[in-house]
Order: sequence, then C-alpha cells, then structure tokens
Amino acid sequence: MTTQQYVWQPTSAEIAERFGLSLDRVVRFDQNTAPGATDWAVPLSDATLRSLNEYPAASYRPLREAAAEYAGVAPTRVVPGAGVDELILLAARTFLAPGDRATALTPTYPLYRIATEQQRATFVPSPLASASPADGAALTWICVPNNPTGDRLPDPTIERIIETAPGIVALDAAYAEFTGDLWGSWITRYDNLLVLHTLSKGFGLAGIRVGYAIGSEPLINAIDRVRPPGSISTLSSTLAIAALSDPDRMRRVVADLIGERERFRDRLTNLGLDVPPSEANFLLAHIGPTAPSVAAELMREGLVVREFPHIPELVDYLRFTVRSATDNDRLIATLERTHS
Ligand code: PMP
Repeated sequence: MTTQQYVWQPTSAEIAERFGLSLDRVVRFDQNTAPGATDWAVPLSDATLRSLNEYPAASYRPLREAAAEYAGVAPTRVVPGAGVDELILLAARTFLAPGDRATALTPTYPLYRIATEQQRATFVPSPLASASPADGAALTWICVPNNPTGDRLPDPTIERIIETAPGIVALDAAYAEFTGDLWGSWITRYDNLLVLHTLSKGFGLAGIRVGYAIGSEPLINAIDRVRPPGSISTLSSTLAIAALSDPDRMRRVVADLIGERERFRDRLTNLGLDVPPSEANFLLAHIGPTAPSVAAELMREGLVVREFPHIPELVDYLRFTVRSATDNDRLIATLERTHS
C-alpha cells in the first residue's frame, strides 16, 4: 500500500535563490507561525550548558509539571512530544491497528490521514457539514480551531462527537491559545479524549519543537510507552518551561496578533475578497480560479502563501498566516497590483 506523504514547502533560502531575492524579502505566510522573534529566549544557565553532554532526563518531569500547571491538570495526565506532529504520529501508532478505521471532519490538517495510513488503517473523511464521525472509527481526529478553515466547532458539537465516538477522540488544540480554550475540565469528563497542544503557535516557538498531550492516565500512559525517550532536546525543554511559566506574556502577544488579524481581514475584504472570520492566526481567502497564478505571483515577490491543489473544495482558496502589519501590508499591496 502506498501512503500519502507529507509535502514540505521549499525553504526560504531556496525561494530567495530561485527568484533572485535577498533572504530578508522572503516572508512565510504559509506555516501559521508567529510574526517575529517572540523574545522568549532565556539566558541558559551554566548548569544547563554544562549538561549538554548528557541526554535529557527521559521522564521530562519539569516540562510535564510546567505544562500541567498551565493546562490546569495533574502532571500524570501530561505527556510531552516533539511538537503536535510527533504526538499525532504517536496517537496513531498507539490507538490504530492495521485494518482499523479513523475519521476526521474534513477539510482539515493533512497529517491525520497520513498518520492513519502509516498504521495501515483506513482514513474515512467526514465532511464538516455533517459533523458526525464515521461508524466504528477506532480514532476520531478533530481540530479545534480547524486548520485550514479557521472556524471553531461549537462546544455542543464537540460534546456530541466525543459522546458518540466509538473509540478515542484526538482533539488537536494547536491553535487553542487564540481562542483561550483550556481543555483540562474536558479530559476529566471524558476518558476517551486526548488533547494535543503545542508551543509552536500562540507561544511562538515553532523552532523548538515542543508539544504535549493531556488526557486520562490510561491514554497518557499508553502514549508514554511508545514515545521516543529523548525527542525533545534539553535546550528546547528549558525554553518551553520558561514560556509555559509565563502565560501572560503569551496572552499579550496573542491579543496583539488577534487585533492585527482583524485589520488584515478588513483590508483583504476591501480588495473584494471573501474572507470568512477566523479564530486562529491565519485567514482563508476565496480567490477564485486564479488562486494558483496569484500564489505564483506572490511567491516571485518572496511572499509564500498556502495553496490547496489537492483539496477539491479548496482549490480556489489561499491561506494567509497573520504576520506583522508591515508584512501583511506588503502582501495586500502585491495583491492589489496583481489581482485587479
Ligand atoms: N496541528 C495543526 C492543526 C497544525 O496546523 C500544525 C502546524 N501547521 C501542527 C499540528 C503542527 O504543530 P507542531 O509544530 O506542534 O508540530
């Protein structure tokens, strides 16, 4: 069986070289990362630096405790991972056997299908409109808020999905900081719920590759048994602990970003584009049949956006990550020139 592969975007250096641009002209509107250096860097203590000859302590207890404190749950209900991506792959490995079925409300994050198929399980997409998971699914993936649509399923719908799911529900909360959602009380209510969090989005630390899952102890222990012992570096876990211990700072950065998201959306709407409201750090714009050529034109200017050539219902759309006001205005100005 051939499984779908995750397709990586060209790097900024490759794009700069291809179009003869200086590297600082290349802006990533395609990866839903934070607009700039988020200033989290902590002065690394001598003790940390001197410990780099050793492996990180495999239990990652201080990281679990910091995540538990932030999420409002017991540390025994937390397992760390190298980003939500690693936790998605681990959840599939833990809860899917060959021949099982998994489902997700689509369109959504492509890694759910890839992780499912890597386990030789069958992925059964369920269109967003119906919002009822396929019968018999051992694993139901839901993304709240959803990438790439930017909407957040209402609580009663999420409750219904969890209560009617025949198996485990993996709720990808990668963008939770933009809605202020904390899922701690949900995992104590539902034993079959696993919630995946990341430091990559609201906390602005995609480069350190840290995430964590929260859930009932049996689910957490099951993932703990299959995770790699040291996939998070000592430097990354030190930075993640610092960020998780100062959530007010994240909340200020997120509040600014939300303000900029609304301004950016107004400007895109004023260009005549249909841009539905978003609860995350990106906007999905309806461009029309020219979407691929608009994306190519933007790329030539160093503005890298997300296209959806393989998702039939989204081929006419482009997704723009909310970046700094200056970068967003550059994108608007280029669209104004090329789209009129
Ligand atoms: N889940 C979703 C829905 C995402 O959009 C992304 C980032 N594109 C990820 C997970 C990956 O997160 P991480 O950086 O924590 O691996």
